[in-house]
Amino acid sequence: MQSLQILPETESLHEARWWDTDANGKIHCYLCPRHCHIGEGQAGFCFIRVNRGGKLYSLGYASPAAIQIDPVEKKPLNHFLPGTKIFSMGTAGCNMGCFFCQNWDISKSRSDQVHSTHAEPEQVVELAIRYGCPSIAFTYNEPTIWAEYVIDICKIAHARGLNTVMVSNGYITQEAFHEVYDHVDAANIDLKAFTENFYGKITLTHLEPVLETLVRLKNETNVWFEITNLMIPTLNDDEAETRKLAEWILAHLGPDVPLHFTAFHPDFKLQDKPRTPPETLHRARKIAREVGLHYVYEGNIFSDGGNTHCPQCNALLIERSWHDVRKNILRDGACPKCNLRIPGEWKNRRGFAVDAMHTGTSRASRDLFDTLNL
Ligand code: SF4
Repeated sequence: MQSLQILPETESLHEARWWDTDANGKIHCYLCPRHCHIGEGQAGFCFIRVNRGGKLYSLGYASPAAIQIDPVEKKPLNHFLPGTKIFSMGTAGCNMGCFFCQNWDISKSRSDQVHSTHAEPEQVVELAIRYGCPSIAFTYNEPTIWAEYVIDICKIAHARGLNTVMVSNGYITQEAFHEVYDHVDAANIDLKAFTENFYGKITLTHLEPVLETLVRLKNETNVWFEITNLMIPTLNDDEAETRKLAEWILAHLGPDVPLHFTAFHPDFKLQDKPRTPPETLHRARKIAREVGLHYVYEGNIFSDGGNTHCPQCNALLIERSWHDVRKNILRDGACPKCNLRIPGEWKNRRGFAVDAMHTGTSRASRDLFDTLNL
């Protein structure tokens, strides 16, 4: 467990959920499959859940360390209100230990090591509305570990007509799963590889709980979800592994769950690996489509692999360039040529007017930084 040097006064902390007390007085956190047993004055693996005086507190509550306005395609979500802005926020810490983390400055930091601001759930929703965002994403670091804050934001966001989105590694226990995902409209889940060896050695976790989360999302919720597989040269880009991953998705989740193969760039502890060549993503996409998945995308590169085609008549339905939507000819969520219904959320059922395309997100984000003094 992690030792904490600087902690706010207990009175200002938010008590956590999903814990009980061991016979030896330690706290058992069962929010994620790590099942940390946390001694007095210490934090769990994720850095932001701490034992103070025999109670578990969440240091992430109301304490965002990163806030930005992004295109929803950046999450990535290609079948969820395409072309809209999404209010995106993260805190400190993570429950995985990925050597390749691309947000390691916040995910590998304790909450007292990052520059964060104070934002109560009501304030988050007000800001999202002020900046014309029909959705709020919990992203950048792992939102499961600050699930208490996520849930409180979701309740207010829904009451105000906004959607909520988890961008997650899927590492959550069955006990906490519904209490979080019953409040969520969409998710992108990282399926970081399809071998236990990769999960064990490169992320310091296990594959099986992530697969269980995906199956639960499919069978037990109405959450719209897509999957991302970040391809790292020599570590998880083997053709046979890609085929197995796609076959598992087809067998357990069906052909209509969008799958994004995205390019790695050297970061954190994996500086010795090269960037993913575009050919690797083209090959992975070809394999997944051969297996029978209908919506397979390439990300973090410029290619036509970000476009949505009708799986029945092959019409180009949504044309994208990086995170921009250039053209969208869907008609009421269906292909205008052959009328096939394309799965996804194409209208905001929650009510907030989706009239603002995601142009100007950089300027809005700068303005937001100034407002929050981040
Ligand atoms: S959420 Fe954090 S403290 Fe709780 S089990 Fe997971 S890593 Fe440990």
